[in-house]
Amino acid sequence: MKTLIDLHTHTGFSPDGKGAVEESLKKAETLGLAAFAVTDHCDCNFWHKAEHYGNPSEMKDVDMYGAGEYALKSIDAQTAAKEKFSDRINLLCGIELGQPLQYLPKAELIAADKRLDFIIGSHHQNKGRDDFYWIEYDKLDTCEIHALLNEYFTQVLEMCKWGKFDVLGHLTYPLRYIEGDCKIPIDLSRYEDIIREIFCTLISNGKGIEINTSGYRQKYGKPLPDLEYVKLYRSLGGKILTLGSDAHCAEDIGKGIAEGAELAKAAGFEYLTYFKERKPVFLKIE
Ligand SMILES: [Zn+2]
Ligand SMILES: [Zn+2]
Repeated sequence: MKTLIDLHTHTGFSPDGKGAVEESLKKAETLGLAAFAVTDHCDCNFWHKAEHYGNPSEMKDVDMYGAGEYALKSIDAQTAAKEKFSDRINLLCGIELGQPLQYLPKAELIAADKRLDFIIGSHHQNKGRDDFYWIEYDKLDTCEIHALLNEYFTQVLEMCKWGKFDVLGHLTYPLRYIEGDCKIPIDLSRYEDIIREIFCTLISNGKGIEINTSGYRQKYGKPLPDLEYVKLYRSLGGKILTLGSDAHCAEDIGKGIAEGAELAKAAGFEYLTYFKERKPVFLKIE
């Protein structure tokens, strides 16, 4: 794994993750990763505690609120661990910045944090709606599902135009649930124009995408995005490509990374990318 990287992982600072930063670092060290990032959640629409937004007993994702506190604690812990483990592992201090446009001032605050090496820009929920995880797709008709996806890609594009992150996280996130959990097939080709626009926006801003390998170990069975879209990204001039397991515990770190690197090669990539002080470093795929 000496030439492999895992740049998307969560620890117990994420409400849906577990384990200490040091536990993750030990696992990454055992795997011999060339670079490793902790990217705990910072969903901007959950910045304040739940009470700030209404009655917590009526809320989904109630544990995810308070990101303004736990995300900063994660950055503090990573900064300390980076010092302590500097001779043992190439740790990148990271964050997964979700829905930045849904609370822009705080997204700008995180994006300007000089301690961060790496920021993933993610979109887990459309404005005013629940996370794609919660939606009951079997109660929706095809038109309604496509309306949600249309809204999703439109909002992802807006986020990419803002662009104060390094790579776009899991481009095909809703499919993890729609196709993976609910087994409703989606023809993504109808979104190809907007996906091209997303890629072109990222490329012209010097940003990249990730291959999120969580899908390999989930019901979806494929990475996010899959080969076809990694190829499309490259054909448009995309060069910055990271790999991330989206592990939510130390045990899952590195899972699917070797397969993700093979997929990158199959799409024509010779290099993977990691980030130091928000600047890309290219690493030849062996
Ligand atoms: Zn995510
Ligand atoms: Zn994640």
